[in-house]
Amino acid sequence: VAKNAGRNQFSFFTRSMQEKAWQRLKLIGELRNALPQHQLSLYFQPVVELRTGRVAKAEALLRWIHPSRGMVCPNQFICLAEETGLINEIGNWVFMEAAVWAKRWSKLRNGVFQVSVNKSPVQFLANAKSLDWGAYLSSLDLGWNSMSVEITEGLLLNASDATAEKLFSLRDAGVQVAIDDFGTGYSSMAYLKKFDVDYLKVDQSFIRDTTREGTSRTIAETIIVMAHKLGLQVIAEGVETEEQRQWLLEAGCDYAQGFLFSQPLPPEQFERLL
Ligand code: C2E
Ligand code: MG
Ligand code: MG
Ligand code: MG
Repeated sequence: VAKNAGRNQFSFFTRSMQEKAWQRLKLIGELRNALPQHQLSLYFQPVVELRTGRVAKAEALLRWIHPSRGMVCPNQFICLAEETGLINEIGNWVFMEAAVWAKRWSKLRNGVFQVSVNKSPVQFLANAKSLDWGAYLSSLDLGWNSMSVEITEGLLLNASDATAEKLFSLRDAGVQVAIDDFGTGYSSMAYLKKFDVDYLKVDQSFIRDTTREGTSRTIAETIIVMAHKLGLQVIAEGVETEEQRQWLLEAGCDYAQGFLFSQPLPPEQFERLL
C-alpha cells in the first residue's frame, strides 16, 4: 500500500514506524533503571466489607513514578516488562513490598489484614528466579492468609502443569487466590472445579453499565449467587456510586472497591485511612 501511494508516503510510513520503535526502546531502557533507582512504588486501594463499611483488605497497584514523564500506570508498562523479562524482578519486588505492608497493617489491626497483588499469566511461565513465597512469608512471620494473588481466568483455562504447580505452591504458602476481572474471559468455569480459589472479583464493566434492571446487573447478581454456592467470596470492582453500593449490598456481595470509597493511595495515606 505504501509503495503504491508514492515515495513520500512510503518514507513517512517508515519514519513514523522508526520513531515508534525508538520510543519503545527508550522506554524499555528507562524501565530497566526503574527498580534500581527506586522509581517504582505501590499504591493501595481499600477493599470494603459491604455489610459493615469497614476497610477489610487492600489491593496493591503498581505505579512508576518517572522523573520526567510523571506517574505511569501499569497498563502502559507491564506489557514491556513482560516482553523483556523484567517482570520477574518487578513481580518479586511487588510481592515482597506488599507483604511488608501487610505485616505492618496486620499488627496495627491486631489481626490479619490481607493485601493482594496482581500477577499476569506471563509471571507464571518458566521463571527460575521466582521467589520462594513460603520461605519469604515465614521469614516475615506473616500470618496465614495475609496475602492474596489476583490472576485472570485465562491463566487457569490454559494452565500447564508448571503453572498449576506454581499455583499450588502459592496455596501451600498460605496465599489466597482471587480471579480478577471475572466474567470478561472465556468463563468456561470448569477450572473452578480443578483449582481451589477463594475470591471472584466481578469485573468493573458489570458494575458500571448498570441501570436498575440492566443485563450487566443480572450477570453480577448471578455471579454472586453462584460464587456463594461454591463457597467463594465476591469482590465487586469499580464501584463508583451510592446506587451501585446499595444494590450490591442487597445482592449479598461480600466486598467492594472503587472510587466511591477511595482511589488507590500511597501507603502513608492508606494507613491514615485505616
Ligand atoms: P486490576 O487488577 O483489575 O485493577 C483495577 C484497576 O481499576 C486499577 O487500575 C484501579 O486503579 C482501577 N480502579 C479502581 N477503582 C476504580 C473505579 O471505581 N473506577 C474506575 N474506572 N477504575 C477503578 P490500575 O492501577 O491502572 O491498574 C490496571 C491494571 O494493571 C490492573 O487491573 C492489573 O491488571 C494491572 N496491574 C496493576 N498492578 C500490577 C502489578 O503489580 N503486577 C501486574 N502484573 N499487573 C498489575
Ligand atoms: Mg486486580
Ligand atoms: Mg480487575
Ligand atoms: Mg485488569
